[in-house]
Amino acid sequence: MYKQTDLKIFELFGIPRIFKDRKYLSSKIIPDELPHRLAELKELANDFGHILRGSAPPNLMIYGPTGSGKTVTVLRVVHELKKVISNQDLPVVVCYAVAEPTEMKTLIALGRDLGIEIPEKGLSIVDAKDKLFDKIGGRDAIVILDEIDKLLRAGRGVELLYWFTRAENISVVGITNMVTVVELVNDARVLSSWNPRKMVFQPYNTRQLVDILKSRAKKAFYESVISDEILEYIASIATRRGGDARYALDLLTFAGDVAVRNNLERITEKEVDKAIELVEREFIKQTVKALKFPEKILLLIVACKDKIHPVEAFNSSNKLLNYLRGENLTQRRWYDYKNNLELYGYVSLIKKGKGRGKGIESFLTLNEAIEREIVVETLMTEFSYYAPIGELKEFLE
Ligand code: ADP
Ligand code: MG
Repeated sequence: MYKQTDLKIFELFGIPRIFKDRKYLSSKIIPDELPHRLAELKELANDFGHILRGSAPPNLMIYGPTGSGKTVTVLRVVHELKKVISNQDLPVVVCYAVAEPTEMKTLIALGRDLGIEIPEKGLSIVDAKDKLFDKIGGRDAIVILDEIDKLLRAGRGVELLYWFTRAENISVVGITNMVTVVELVNDARVLSSWNPRKMVFQPYNTRQLVDILKSRAKKAFYESVISDEILEYIASIATRRGGDARYALDLLTFAGDVAVRNNLERITEKEVDKAIELVEREFIKQTVKALKFPEKILLLIVACKDKIHPVEAFNSSNKLLNYLRGENLTQRRWYDYKNNLELYGYVSLIKKGKGRGKGIESFLTLNEAIEREIVVETLMTEFSYYAPIGELKEFLE
């Protein structure tokens, strides 16, 4: 219910009739319709379905680029499977989790999906594994690890795979966008018992993306807010981004938001173009937030200056780190973090001759492609949990 005062505000500015239900564009929803994934749905239903008939599903590794519908398709099948299992009260288990960079955290996530709380501290990995296995209790089980590369790339998870694949009642399904993921497992014990069958999700093409956008837009928007032409426009942009359905849906969502903010009745190319910018900003924000704490500090120090000598940057970073967390790092460590930031494309180390016989000047600078303002704003907001913004600003001057 709106309060009287809110109503007046809406009367004044009009209620923008853009979104009927914005959540239908979110990746948190598993839609009933998944256009162009029928074959994959059938194949997975068939593979997973073995568990309903008392035989073991095959081990699988599902490949495909970001936004090709791997997660949503698997979750759709899992959802249906769980319904059958509970309706028929079958003694089988389906377990899904997004992998984490450590075995412990991954076990905790799997446990949570089965409704058990594995404590992070005080248990060994073997204890944690035993807890999960106790919960499964010898029943036939499918264990699905989404983004399994996160675990394997961190050099972890082989032991986990070993336990899972050695247990005869457990089938393991991995999901990844990394084609070489199996090569990360060079453990003969695992490879001999695992040997997953490959399944590949192809990137969507423009026509397919249009169908996907349509199926979700009809629930999310009021009629005539968005035309087929605009959906085609969005789909063609997303095709150039590798056929990423998530990107397409993000563009559509942000374009809708822009229309709401500007009190428009429909979405045009102009709002989509603005959305491209907003999605880009959001992307930078999210990746900056995912950096390690010292990397964030060094990045902020560099971003606050046009250019800064590396040693000066390291010293300032140390001061800031000390101020925020009471910690100190060696120059060597800062040097490594600097290398990471270079590798991720945030900063560059420039070396320049100062003129004849005057030696070389070297300095760190934020890359041109990175928007300074977004980086500074994101990091200041993060650090404001540790210190008042005013003090931070003084510190950075
Ligand atoms: P992946 O796991 O391959 O990176 P997702 O399954 O997360 O991709 O899909 C990305 C986004 O696109 C999600 O919001 C998902 O709901 C949506 N999506 C993907 N494929 C379809 C489809 N065929 N129909 C409707 N929505 C889809
Ligand atoms: Mg996914």
